[in-house]
Amino acid sequence: MKWIGAHVSTAGGVQNAPENAHNIGARAFALFTKNQRQWRAKPLTTEQIDGFHTAMEQYGYTSDQVLPHDSYLINLGHPEAEPREKSLNAFIDELERCHQLGLTLLNFHPGSHLRKSSEEECLDQIADSINLALDQTTGVTAVIENTAGQGSNLGHRFEHLAHIIDRVEDKTRIGVCIDTCHTFAAGYDLRTADNYTATMNEFDEIVGFNYLRGMHINDCKSEFASRVDRHHSIGKGNMGPGPFQMIMNDERIDEIPMVLETINSDIWREEIELLYDMIRPD
Ligand SMILES: [Zn+2]
Ligand SMILES: [Zn+2]
Repeated sequence: MKWIGAHVSTAGGVQNAPENAHNIGARAFALFTKNQRQWRAKPLTTEQIDGFHTAMEQYGYTSDQVLPHDSYLINLGHPEAEPREKSLNAFIDELERCHQLGLTLLNFHPGSHLRKSSEEECLDQIADSINLALDQTTGVTAVIENTAGQGSNLGHRFEHLAHIIDRVEDKTRIGVCIDTCHTFAAGYDLRTADNYTATMNEFDEIVGFNYLRGMHINDCKSEFASRVDRHHSIGKGNMGPGPFQMIMNDERIDEIPMVLETINSDIWREEIELLYDMIRPD
């Protein structure tokens, strides 16, 4: 079973997200549990937490179908101790908020060396930060998203994801999310059947499908291997419909949240339908 959805709005409070997902025919969704562009957030209220639980039940979603995304400000691999600590504390707060909402996954971008540390040092620091965060929390799996590799962002090579996982102590609470646009922009082609097979086999060999906890389903406005992160609507970008047809019929990718972060939220319902229509009958 494929669980397709989108990154929905939480305007008015997190408790509104399940209804927003339901209204576009989504079987999965992503959300921010706080303002993603601010460091500080008020704690979730009992009303919001209870409202979220009620809405999850009402619209028939389980925690496996929800992939919360953390704040864009967090950099667990920051080369300087003080901002890294600030990021760690914010990350712990995000994990706790997910746990309060009964959610079991938290998707995040690994981090950036800002040209002040080596790739290896940065990846080690990210893993150390994850270990500290997992030690202080419970019940939520940290899900590393692969990136386009823009600027000094790491996570654009499958080897980066594997390096981090390798150093994380609790392997039961670490996973990865493949963003299709980021994969393509990072230089992994998915357009032909041969490319798709090669890229996915490489992912399986280096990281392993057993760590795949979610996907972001985006076409790409930027060029192949450009390392520029610009999403586009499904079938309208430089990837075209081919990769999505193959994903929708790839049985290794099942029962994980598959979330649109495409640029026009007005057509998410149609995009979800389009993706489900790509599934070939057995
Ligand atoms: Zn992301
Ligand atoms: Zn993404």
